[in-house]
Amino acid sequence: MSAIRHALSTKREDDFAQWYQEVIAEAEMAEESGVRGCMVIKPWGYGIWERIQRLMDERIKAAGVENCYFPLFIPLSYFAKEAEHVEGFAKEMAVVTHHRLIGDGKGGLVPDPEAKLEEPLIVRPTSETVIGAAMARWVQSWRDLPLLTNQWANVVRWEMRTRMFLRTSEFLWQEGHTAHADREDAMAETLRALEMYREFAEGPLAMPVIAGEKPENERFPGAVATYSIEAMMQDGKALQAGTSHYLGTGFAHAAGIQYQDKEGTQQYCHTTSWGTSTRMIGGVIMVHGDDDGLRVPPQIAPQQIVILPMLRDDDGDAALLAYCEDIRRSLAAQSALGEPLRVLLDKRPGKATQKRWAWVKKGAPLILEIGGRDAAAGQVSLLRRDRLWNAAAKPDFRAMPKDEFLGIAAGEIEDIQVSLHAEARARRDANITRDVTSIDALATFFSEDKRYPGWVELCWARPTGAELEGVIKTLKELKLTIRNTATDAAPASGACVFTGRPAVERIYVARAY
Ligand code: AMP
Repeated sequence: MSAIRHALSTKREDDFAQWYQEVIAEAEMAEESGVRGCMVIKPWGYGIWERIQRLMDERIKAAGVENCYFPLFIPLSYFAKEAEHVEGFAKEMAVVTHHRLIGDGKGGLVPDPEAKLEEPLIVRPTSETVIGAAMARWVQSWRDLPLLTNQWANVVRWEMRTRMFLRTSEFLWQEGHTAHADREDAMAETLRALEMYREFAEGPLAMPVIAGEKPENERFPGAVATYSIEAMMQDGKALQAGTSHYLGTGFAHAAGIQYQDKEGTQQYCHTTSWGTSTRMIGGVIMVHGDDDGLRVPPQIAPQQIVILPMLRDDDGDAALLAYCEDIRRSLAAQSALGEPLRVLLDKRPGKATQKRWAWVKKGAPLILEIGGRDAAAGQVSLLRRDRLWNAAAKPDFRAMPKDEFLGIAAGEIEDIQVSLHAEARARRDANITRDVTSIDALATFFSEDKRYPGWVELCWARPTGAELEGVIKTLKELKLTIRNTATDAAPASGACVFTGRPAVERIYVARAY
């Protein structure tokens, strides 16, 4: 049997990090910008982000949350009001101190000392403080609650180790911020957002996740409780793909978010915040990509079906293009996954096989190749990106009459969405180990020559404070982190792996991005 000749030069199993970079470059998703940690997002990458935005925004609005926009700059004093918050973000904040430059006498420019700001401005790393200040103005009475806001924006966190999409210094995200009358209502909103993220990951992203609570050392700075969704990448590492925080009354105290209750008493609000970012695109690459490039789940694919006419620069081209355009129009009038099909007729010049591989690497779910003879015979040739190769190591094209294809196209798109999820889910489930019952066994498990050890599910007694710090230290020596406590896991049994006390919860331990 001949070997498959893959489209990428790096295979996942040879060098996963290099493979990841190659997918991004070959799929033309993003490139380095010249500014450390900041990327240029190209049309295919941004198109995926726009799909994500649109589908997430629908869900946010369906929950009664309204979009607002708040300033990019936040006065330093706003941060200073919440001690834990400022401490958590201090190390990664970009600060604006001047508003004008002047010549340095040597042909260069320097900040003008005369133009020094009275108070430095922070480029927002997250907007709790500035939105809190607005909430303090907007909330007066119990009738104003709950206050449900969201913003789509860019934020800046001066990250030291950056990687495109996964961890950048500037990233795009949505941040939900809500204020409530009491803990119960705020906690319900925190968990609603978590469930929205879980459903979004499993649905549009076809990315299986575990939704649960973070241990106290991983809480968002200033939060009372932090929840996350965690996805397993193909190298077995975990990726935190979204977070939802219950903030208690700390931020309300700092910003003065108060309301008069029904009895006329002044009360502090309970607030929440929740966010997902362009990091999700990195997750999609590492969950669905293969040795031929990206595979985009159809729901977030900017184009779901790409039609490639095999143009020959001769008189036959006009008839071929008319035939292809007719197919494009028929497809665009159909729906799949609840929306009109997104179809591109790629008429750009170039060899059809080269264009095919470019679309394979971008991960377009369905590719249709049509030559002059197909047009004359009323045929098409169909390639599914998720099932690229046949048993003879050749691209698995299926030829069929045009009308037959028009009858199955929407079903194929829906099937690819489901298949990608099922494949990722099976791989994730096969890589969670549950029979590790001691720290020694954990150390052995992760030290053995396993390329991709995956995750370990452990029972623990939920230690806190110094005891938890000890656990974190032990895990750190093994390059491991606690991901979260699954909210829907089976109840814990037996003894805590770390303390020997009766276990109360199950946690996931893994290497992470
Ligand atoms: P946080 O406000 O820290 O809870 O972050 C909200 C979400 O933003 C996280 O769950 C991540 O998915 C994402 N995120 C955090 N830092 C970065 C970063 N440097 N680059 C991209 N996404 C990030």
